[in-house]
Amino acid sequence: MRLKRTEITVETRNLIILRKSSKTFKTLCPHCVSESMMITPETAAIVYGISTRTVYSRLEEDLIHFIETERGTVLVCLHSLLSLDISNN
Ligand SMILES: [Zn+2]
Repeated sequence: MRLKRTEITVETRNLIILRKSSKTFKTLCPHCVSESMMITPETAAIVYGISTRTVYSRLEEDLIHFIETERGTVLVCLHSLLSLDISNN
């Protein structure tokens, strides 16, 4: 008996919509030296489907850029996130 092999390819697309809020805004990233959307580590975790802990680990490793607001809120540079594959780990 000869086996017949069928290969199915599924292509998916994701659309991410970031709404402006008081915690998300566009500003100059001092590391990129260009304007970038700054988002909370929690939002970054949701966008990438990873844990917030992983985002903070990447921050500590200086793999993604961040700024700290006057109130002590940490905001992550979306530009640096997009240029890095942080989905590992
Ligand atoms: Zn940056």
